[in-house]
Amino acid sequence: MKDNVIHSALFGVAVGDALGVPVEFKDRSYLKKNPVVDYLGYMCWNQPPGTWSDDSSLTFCLAESLCKGYDLDDIATNFVKWYQTGYWGAHYKVFDIGGSTRYSIQRLIKGESPRYSGNMMESDNGNGSLMRILPIAFYLAEESDLDKIYKTVKEISSITHAHFRSVFACFIYIIFVLEILKNVEKRAAYKNMQNKVLSYIDGKGFNEKEVSLFERLLNNDIEKYKEDEIASSGYVLHSLEAAFWCLMNEDSYHKTVLKAVNLGGDTDTTAAIAGGLAGLLYGFDAIPQKWIDQLARKGDIMELCDRLGKKCNNMK
Ligand SMILES: [Mg+2]
Repeated sequence: MKDNVIHSALFGVAVGDALGVPVEFKDRSYLKKNPVVDYLGYMCWNQPPGTWSDDSSLTFCLAESLCKGYDLDDIATNFVKWYQTGYWGAHYKVFDIGGSTRYSIQRLIKGESPRYSGNMMESDNGNGSLMRILPIAFYLAEESDLDKIYKTVKEISSITHAHFRSVFACFIYIIFVLEILKNVEKRAAYKNMQNKVLSYIDGKGFNEKEVSLFERLLNNDIEKYKEDEIASSGYVLHSLEAAFWCLMNEDSYHKTVLKAVNLGGDTDTTAAIAGGLAGLLYGFDAIPQKWIDQLARKGDIMELCDRLGKKCNNMK
């Protein structure tokens, strides 16, 4: 792994998130007339410019836990700490939380195991686990056993989002990230992801109706769809498709995250998910310096990335 690869991913998530926070829930037609081109402040959540939200907080909670190694109970403990005390909050407060995440964390607080705390209904497929899954790719970077990768991704998603659709979306995302970590070019990485995921699910007996929902990503080329065919709500499948679509159709970090924000809807999460990918693809130096400089708790994030980087190097 390259030296600052973790920095590129985690800052990639947080900068995308921070660009999207002020305009969360704005629709696409509003953003066509008033496109976001830089950090804004206040508006939706009344937060100063450079404030990231739950997407980054929970990503950092996972990254922080992985600095000690993989321990599902410890990851869940960090999520509870975030919810109760604002641990890894941009300003040490929680101002944005999804329904499934809230209910699952409340179950953890009552003593439920993180193996059973997640929501399992079809209606529980918001993007709340996809938005925070990225750091597990660093723990899995040397892993070639797809079963082990699937099982690990499933465990982490299922702390809050245990339905197959959410788990499978996280799996697709992580398989693609693992290709990018091997320095595979983005279109080849996308093709490799499709081949790996399709061969993995062959014969597994997964619900065919569920798998078929991912057809546009897995059996077609998501890049080729028109913008009005790409939705950007808080639904996990929309977020996954939108993130890939932005990444494939743009050629830099800043254009990718701005495209994601300006799709409207769940702006911060779409941009966080796309931003993690774009950070990894274009590298830390491609993230505009002014966006790094104005990011809340940038020193703490830097220090966290350093620590996780050391841990990953020691694992090899
Ligand atoms: Mg958010």
